[in-house]
Amino acid sequence: MKILVINAGSSSIKYQLFEMPQETVLAKGLLEKIGEETSKLTHSFDSKTQKIKTKAADHSAGIKIILDALVEPQTGVIKDISEIKAVGHRVVHGGEAFTDSVIINDKVIASIEKFADLAPLHNPPNLTGIRAAQKSLPDAVQVACFDTAFHTTIPQVAYIYALPYEIYEKFRVRRYGFHGTSHKYVARRCAAIMGKGKYDINVITCHLGNGCSITAVKAGKSIDTSMGLTPLEGLVMGTRSGDFDPAILFYLSEKGYSTEELNNMCNKKSGLLGISGVSNDMRNLREQAQAGNERAQLAFDIFCYRIKKYIGAYTAALGKLDAIVFTGGIGENAPDVRAQCCNDLEQIGVSIDPAANVETNRVEGLITSADSRVKVYVIPTNEELAIAQDTFKLAK
Ligand code: ADP
Repeated sequence: MKILVINAGSSSIKYQLFEMPQETVLAKGLLEKIGEETSKLTHSFDSKTQKIKTKAADHSAGIKIILDALVEPQTGVIKDISEIKAVGHRVVHGGEAFTDSVIINDKVIASIEKFADLAPLHNPPNLTGIRAAQKSLPDAVQVACFDTAFHTTIPQVAYIYALPYEIYEKFRVRRYGFHGTSHKYVARRCAAIMGKGKYDINVITCHLGNGCSITAVKAGKSIDTSMGLTPLEGLVMGTRSGDFDPAILFYLSEKGYSTEELNNMCNKKSGLLGISGVSNDMRNLREQAQAGNERAQLAFDIFCYRIKKYIGAYTAALGKLDAIVFTGGIGENAPDVRAQCCNDLEQIGVSIDPAANVETNRVEGLITSADSRVKVYVIPTNEELAIAQDTFKLAK
């Protein structure tokens, strides 16, 4: 069965076409700059990559361009779009309603629309992608896979904020958590690598990309995670602050900052970029730090310190810890970050093997020494494959 996986952002659509259940990637790519004068399609198939200048006025036009690339004789991998039997969509916020992936119907669409209130940057473009795919592929089964679903097992003690309880009752303000597809995927992989059943291990999963979050997985289920009502809470990220004293916002508001300015500051101008004043990209930051830029070094140190602090907290929350997993662009590629996050953690049973750590990049691997009670793994995430697997299960 051919399954198309779509991750629609505000001005981009990422896609992968899978053959299931073989899990073969037939083609994948990224359409950027939707709505601009010229859009850019990067399309890969058969170990070739093509960059095509095009114009996608909106997401509907974008989906059509992608489908054309999939069937076009020179770039195509299928003869006709009717071969695509199902489409799996990444949807960021599923609120409390969706504990798993679902087949999309009108009711599901209405719920995703409702949760746009909680994820204004993500759910509206996700919905646009769904509507565009429904229009272009009306006979395909459409499936929604939610970033929040894996975290619906988090108990109240970890998801209720210590605000007046009616704020939760009235507005459903609580911890939801994100990156669930990734945390679940690497937690399951970790269990498999360790030769255990998926419900047989306790693991802390660190997803470190542009957005960063960390999850405590107890017996296969998420019991706490660092992102909250929105993806702003928790770890230091590329441009997001993560945790800070909320009173700072009242203080700055009195100093004349508007709500919009504060929102923009916390989401787009903080984190690695905000502290360093140089870059939100870990590679640039590292270069700058090595060249002697003290604020770049400070940003790096704060980034790692926050992760380490959460590892300690989640070790306590889990009671018994079997493994820690690093994933995401930084987690998979930055041994220096991994080493600093796990430095001096012998107390909790973590002992990194420096050589294995440096050698393990972009591939699965164990980076702790043989006598380390807690195993630390690098496991490349594969959210697209996880979405394809769920979509296949439901469409079958
Ligand atoms: P997204 O969250 O957008 O999917 P990624 O998971 O691709 O992002 O992660 C992007 C981050 O990964 C960036 O901060 C980038 O600098 C970092 N990264 C990628 N390669 C390396 C590397 N070799 N060393 C350090 N950081 C890296």
